[in-house]
Amino acid sequence: MSTEVRKDWDTYFMDIAYMVSTRSRCSRRHVGAVLVQGKKLLGTAYNGAPTGVPDCSEAGCMISEEYELVVTDGQEEMVKKQRCIRTIHAEQNLLLFTDRIDREGSSVYVTDEPCWTCANMLANSGITEIVFHRSYPKDTGKVTNMMEQKGITFRRLENYQPPRETMMTVSN
Ligand SMILES: [Zn+2]
Ligand SMILES: [Zn+2]
Repeated sequence: MSTEVRKDWDTYFMDIAYMVSTRSRCSRRHVGAVLVQGKKLLGTAYNGAPTGVPDCSEAGCMISEEYELVVTDGQEEMVKKQRCIRTIHAEQNLLLFTDRIDREGSSVYVTDEPCWTCANMLANSGITEIVFHRSYPKDTGKVTNMMEQKGITFRRLENYQPPRETMMTVSN
């Protein structure tokens, strides 16, 4: 008799997304995404440079600085943020490596809440559900609004705990 508790499907697929994220070579952010239809895994992807091109661990991150509107206690403020633009985002790689026919009616499990560009592309990709764990508040408002318009389920796994061995320390 086993005393192990069987994992629910959300935990199961998010665990896989976190395992996939450990393949990323960007020291700033490790993101993993998986495509799921029913209970079947149809694709995996992480953020990375195009194949055959030096990645962040070899060439360093490619930093872009941009100003971002941040609201703290009702006060709006422009804050300078740094991002690595060397990598193709995990969600975009997932779209590059899966077929449209597989995406129709499928779910995407992604470790991090999609940015606006990824959300926009996912919304046009055939998928009908996005499940994420870590929040990315910058684009939440406009992403949530668009998902509602598209009728795409957009939900966060609030009480989820990633596998310990997949966690990284992120340098900002
Ligand atoms: Zn990087
Ligand atoms: Zn993105």
